Amino acid sequence: MSWNTIIGHKQQIKVLQKALETGRLAHAYLFTGPEACGKESVAFELARILNCRTADPVSGSCETCKECISLNAFMHPNVEYIFPVESALLDPGDTAKKENKRFTEAKERYDLLLEEKKQNPFFSPAMERSMGILTEQVIALQHKASFMPSQGTRKIFILSQAEKLHPSAANKLLKLLEEPPAHILFILVSSRPEAVLPTIRSRCQVIRFSRVSSRELRLWLHENRPEITDPLLSFIVSFSRGNLRLAWEFINNIGSDTAETATIILRNQAIDYLRKALVPGKLHEAITASEEQVKNLSRTELTLFIGALLLFFQDVNHRRINPSFQGLNNPDIVDSIDRFAKNFPDPDFFRISTIAEEAIRAIERNANPTLVMAAFTAELKGLLQRVT
Ligand SMILES: [Zn+2]
Repeated sequence: MSWNTIIGHKQQIKVLQKALETGRLAHAYLFTGPEACGKESVAFELARILNCRTADPVSGSCETCKECISLNAFMHPNVEYIFPVESALLDPGDTAKKENKRFTEAKERYDLLLEEKKQNPFFSPAMERSMGILTEQVIALQHKASFMPSQGTRKIFILSQAEKLHPSAANKLLKLLEEPPAHILFILVSSRPEAVLPTIRSRCQVIRFSRVSSRELRLWLHENRPEITDPLLSFIVSFSRGNLRLAWEFINNIGSDTAETATIILRNQAIDYLRKALVPGKLHEAITASEEQVKNLSRTELTLFIGALLLFFQDVNHRRINPSFQGLNNPDIVDSIDRFAKNFPDPDFFRISTIAEEAIRAIERNANPTLVMAAFTAELKGLLQRVT
């Protein structure tokens, strides 16, 4: 049943199952962990269990009853899903045409984000022109909290990206958390809990999530999507590197092969950059090459870009140790891999993967991508010295 839809996180699920079984759910949870690791999907499953007609703590929700279906469509009266929105959305204005237009357009953008969330449960929606989770959104929650749930025992407020609570919104929320109505369950979700007001944090039971491992993702795919087999299975697992939003995109695009094509283009771009970066001397040119990438790629694409380099280095390392090694991440470019292994016979692969992982984390955490890529490129260049 429906706990099965969760990829990994067995320990965290156990804690929640126990709390459900003993009737000891906290009033407020803070789910923390890396971006797109699946913590919010666990929040939604908890919300489904509390509303589903046939759920039990061990197996989870049914996903087929009226409650589950309306919840998955973001239509359930007991579940509020809050994420950063534009202020225009919260102010329909009077009937004067101009103001209505702003509202209608904002509403369209909002609906598109929800639609994407329905397609991909690991997507974190946030409106582009948003100043964060706004005071008006929390006031609306306060209002809703004053009513009992229509059916079931609890209302569930899920706050996505809680670190983006606007300061005055955070203070309003704190008031609610200080005297939580018994019929409300708060689930705050954040990949940057250190940016959540400490007074809010201390009122929540914190559950820490970590990145889903390759083994767990592989196992889940094996059990739930047996039609996906190697080499595609390995490709999805290694390329998404625990980012379930990406993994889900790959899984859903199988057959249309757009995802795979886009990834291969990005991979080739990464290898092209590597070639430019490794011309002896020429540090300035290498930095320029890195700046070009930053200009053309989004943050997510940049992390994939560095991820593609990591997979390439992994292949090089495998062939260096065992020249007849099969099972490469990039079997279609085995010649480039072998040439690279020959030209750079003994680099410090451990250090290279460390700096690549660090660069990815920094970009995910909103560091300045130009600086991150410049530093990464300079160090990479130092670590890779061609034999002459
Ligand atoms: Zn159900």
